[in-house]
Amino acid sequence: MSQHSDQPAQPSKQGTSPEGAYNQDDVERYYQTSLEIEKSRHHIDENKEEISALEHNASIELFKKQVGLLEKRLASDPRAFHQMFINEGSNAAAREFQQDELSKDFTQTLWALLLKNDDMSTLLLRFLWDLPLKYKRKFIRAIEQHLSDHYPMFKSLSEGWPGANNIPPYIRPPAERAEDFDLVNQGYIGYMGLGYSFREVELLVWLEVLRDKQCDDKPCELGLQPDTGGGENEGGCPVKIHIPEMLHLIGEDKFEQALQLIKESNPLPNVTGRICPQEIQCQGVCTLNEQPIEIGQIEWFLPEREKALHPDVGQGRKDFVSPWAKADKPPIAVVGSGPAGLINAYLLSKEGYPVTVFEAFHEFGGVLRYGIPEFRLPNDLIDDVVRKITALGGKFVTNFIVGKTTSLQALKRAGFWKVFIGTGAGLPRFMNVPGEHMNGVLSANEFLTRINLMRAHLEDYETPLPKTRGKQVIVIGGGNTAMDAARTARRLGGKVTIVYRRTRDEMPVRMEELEHALEEGINLKVLRAPREFTGSDKTQFVNLATLDVMELGEPDDSGRRRPAATGETEKMPVDLVIMALGNAPNPILKNSERGLKTSKWGTIEARSDSQETSIDDVYTGGDANRGGSTAINAAGDGQQAAREIAGENPFSASEIKALVASAEHYTDKGQAPKKILEKIELAEGIVEFVVHAPLIAKSARAGQFVRVLGWEKGELIPLTLADWNIEQGTIDLVIQSLGSSSMKINQMEVGEVISGIAGPLGLPSQLHPYKNGETVVFTAGGVGLPPVYPIMREHLRMGNHVTLISGFRTRDLMFWDKPDERIGLLQAEYPDLLDVIYTTNDGSFGINGFVTGPLEEMLENMKAGSGRLVGEVVTIGPPMMMQAVSDLTKPYGVKTVASLNSIMVDATGMCGACMVPVTIGGKMVRKHACIDGPELDAHIIDWDKFLPRFLQYREQEDANKSRHGFD
Ligand code: FAD
Repeated sequence: MSQHSDQPAQPSKQGTSPEGAYNQDDVERYYQTSLEIEKSRHHIDENKEEISALEHNASIELFKKQVGLLEKRLASDPRAFHQMFINEGSNAAAREFQQDELSKDFTQTLWALLLKNDDMSTLLLRFLWDLPLKYKRKFIRAIEQHLSDHYPMFKSLSEGWPGANNIPPYIRPPAERAEDFDLVNQGYIGYMGLGYSFREVELLVWLEVLRDKQCDDKPCELGLQPDTGGGENEGGCPVKIHIPEMLHLIGEDKFEQALQLIKESNPLPNVTGRICPQEIQCQGVCTLNEQPIEIGQIEWFLPEREKALHPDVGQGRKDFVSPWAKADKPPIAVVGSGPAGLINAYLLSKEGYPVTVFEAFHEFGGVLRYGIPEFRLPNDLIDDVVRKITALGGKFVTNFIVGKTTSLQALKRAGFWKVFIGTGAGLPRFMNVPGEHMNGVLSANEFLTRINLMRAHLEDYETPLPKTRGKQVIVIGGGNTAMDAARTARRLGGKVTIVYRRTRDEMPVRMEELEHALEEGINLKVLRAPREFTGSDKTQFVNLATLDVMELGEPDDSGRRRPAATGETEKMPVDLVIMALGNAPNPILKNSERGLKTSKWGTIEARSDSQETSIDDVYTGGDANRGGSTAINAAGDGQQAAREIAGENPFSASEIKALVASAEHYTDKGQAPKKILEKIELAEGIVEFVVHAPLIAKSARAGQFVRVLGWEKGELIPLTLADWNIEQGTIDLVIQSLGSSSMKINQMEVGEVISGIAGPLGLPSQLHPYKNGETVVFTAGGVGLPPVYPIMREHLRMGNHVTLISGFRTRDLMFWDKPDERIGLLQAEYPDLLDVIYTTNDGSFGINGFVTGPLEEMLENMKAGSGRLVGEVVTIGPPMMMQAVSDLTKPYGVKTVASLNSIMVDATGMCGACMVPVTIGGKMVRKHACIDGPELDAHIIDWDKFLPRFLQYREQEDANKSRHGFD
């Protein structure tokens, strides 16, 4: 093993020779001396003494003869020396290869020379690469026989080589990796952790490449033609990396050129190399089918190698002029920063287009960041890509939800010539089996997002995490998402079982991931499907899964045999159920854009043979277009769309300049820090913040909310918009100190910046004029008043009569009630339309009691025909108050709407955390407060099942409070 196991940043140029190598130094000195000849004959004379001092042996004699010959030739053509030496040196090695087997001395010397990483080693690698297979086998036998002590991975390598045996990448042992989030498959570069030098690792990669047959029909790149002769090729590379050529370049020790070749078709090799399903693509059709070439591993080794050798690559050139400054091409907007969006942004920025990426989350990468855990794909790889795009002038706007913060058409109006939609398929599917609403049943998206994006498993991060240590965790599903969720739960101390309704053969998972999961101690239960979840009636926490025992029937559309219930069932105790059943596209964009054609599955349709959507100049790709697919397919689409986008444009130079200026201004607005401009203490523990958020203010509607990330390590919390001012570009948020997050935010001061605010989210309130003098009653409990305020203002503006019943615990907690405050001002503006009733629980102001008191009186009066008709009731505030209002109005048949600030994580529908169980037609249906709400028909909500969801993280929240000293 090398004594020089250097850090990647300082790769060892000099690998060590295995013990017993003979005359390596002499040969090397001889070689160096010979090189000196190239410079001048004079040097030869000077070194004569040294040359004659060398020991006499066969190799040296051979080299001497060669040098003698070379000297003669040199006299006639000094510049030809180097090539001559190369030829002659190869001849010497070739002679050795004529022997039955390579000798120990020769093998060790040869290997030592290969490790030198100089001209000589390059020429020897090329020589070996060009050898016929039988000589390559001889070489492999020799390194196995003579170098295995130093390189245990060479043991038995020759058995079945090249087709059935190879040197695998370094994978951390299961016992070591199952408890942490460090990378599991460390690739060839992982061998450096065992003490091998950088050059040794290069040689391991080169040895893998040496197995390649350079097939003429290139199945790894182009795929195999189907037997029927028609249809798409099977397998191959979706982005058409020239794989055989790449392998050839590595075979010739041209690692850098190999990387450049990949990058021409795929700027994300570091990512796709790790997570592509190679076993059904490039490697799946490899003619070395027993043990295909590790194409994926080689693909990601190359960028790692570049990073190690040139850490500054991607930092940007000093003389670089940003496309925004050049302004000679029209701007492009990219929506979504998953692999589809990132590759599109990269390629277009590289072509000189000013590009802005608009991303809904506060971090980039899409599923690569929030879905795929770091033990499979380190986040710094995504950061790397973002850095490269930024270095090319690309801009990024976070917390920006196209379809909510703005529309596609508005982006175009803002100056963006074309738009690429790479919004993915982030909406989790559920089974709708009984008990799915229970606490402890969640989507894999939610579970993984809490950990991967929000870092909930780390002590100093705020997002709560379901308890997993020592708990029975079942993961439903058989794809990559299920594996990621299961292996994550395992790392958090869970006893994990994957439950899959078909058999192992049908699992749509990367085999490597399944094998790793099983090695890590995760159980697999096949031919089982959940039938029902049950648990505590009081807490609504799940504790039992009833599973259907399944059998396989006839194949379905996917060609896999269809599972059918046998009628038998099985019970399984569970503490946590993670549903990994696939995802559908998020409807936000579709719902906001009438002209955008979508399929019956909700995917955005593209025109045939194009990535362009039904809207001109709007393109799409990746999961948004395909439904749940793969990263490499997403990258391929992003690439294809970039090609289509980068065509002729119809603008004059001055028009382009104007578009760029406008789009840049818009981008700056989107990026504007969410600075606190005003802080008003409304009552004890209740604070109103006026925050700079111009684009949210512009789009806000009554009833909508925003998703707030108070600080970098905070959690995402939904806050209803209390008010907004388009001219001033501000929004108003009212926050009551309840949990640790709200308490910490309320400590922020004017001038400080809230880490992220996204929105406006949810559907605006549905308002319509009441023609018969009906009153719209608002019951606001405590800080339910701020979200009520803009909705009732809209009703008043429409001419509707409004009755506000505003309840507080005590007089001290009241706000906005003075004549010059919000409610007082509304009363002055609409004296005939607005009635205000205050209640306090302790009777310190207004009516003594709850908001339900005056409401009941109104309903009774209405029933008796003596009071105003109640058109509808809107209730916002503590969940128990909303339930009480709902229960009260139901018998009167008065439409009642509850606005549910439920426990959300992403607040765009991506996680399913804000599930609201409602009953429609006698059946329980899942609604999501962030997508279907926040306002929902209060009478169909199953409040008994819903209310415990507010308390599911009570313990974790209490722990956070004490951590911050808020006890
Ligand atoms: P996404 O990666 O979903 O990115 C979409 C982005 O758009 C997100 O960042 C989202 O926040 C943003 N966005 C959404 N709506 C809006 C909006 N309205 N405005 C602004 N931004 C918006 N594939 C593999 O090849 N190999 C694997 O091993 C693998 N493992 C997986 C594991 C998990 C847990 C999951 C969920 C998927 C996995 N996949 C895997 C699938 C793969 O990750 C996806 O196919 C791929 O990420 C799709 O890329 P995309 O760019 O189309 O979308």
